[in-house]
Amino acid sequence: MANKFILPALPYAYNALEPYIDEATLKIHHDKHHQTYCDKFNAALEAAELNSEDIFEIMGNVSNLPAVRNHGGGFFNHTFYWESMAGSCDGPEKLPEIAKAVTDTFGSFEKFKDEFSKSAASVFGSGWTWLGVESSGELVIYNTPNQDNAFMDICDTDAKPILVIDVWEHAYYIKYQNRRPEYIEQFFKVINWNKVQERLLEIRKN
Ligand code: MN
Repeated sequence: MANKFILPALPYAYNALEPYIDEATLKIHHDKHHQTYCDKFNAALEAAELNSEDIFEIMGNVSNLPAVRNHGGGFFNHTFYWESMAGSCDGPEKLPEIAKAVTDTFGSFEKFKDEFSKSAASVFGSGWTWLGVESSGELVIYNTPNQDNAFMDICDTDAKPILVIDVWEHAYYIKYQNRRPEYIEQFFKVINWNKVQERLLEIRKN
């Protein structure tokens, strides 16, 4: 059976996020880790005899399919993470909709950064920290373990994500070793706020 899901190219050069996220990390993270999730996701779908090509439908039905949950989550989450970053983009203060949403919920960007960073630092083991939009329209910060995300039926939040940081050790170990808080601090220099705002507006439209 042909592979249904194909690894998307990184949306920028491997060195585009230097010096904050280094080229060696991005190469291994995208070409090896993400590729492996993609391959194993396709294999898990085949083993489960799942024919859907709609990733959201698949993720909404993972509760009895641990391999689909782990590898499908890994496939989806990494794509979302790459797109959450960019080598250069506007600062959030230049983007009125996201600026207002962040200050309405957190009071200020500094407070948002502080809360998001603390949440990311607190993930025990491997996982992700997300900024999402609740059904009320409020923004919310939450963590998910392993490769889980809010589109899955096993997740206890359904806040739609607009930003994510990968806090698995493989995301930062080459450059930062065990210093996760330093990686989180530098991540803020490469957040693609244009994309974050675009996702927010897309959610509000629906
Ligand atoms: Mn990763």
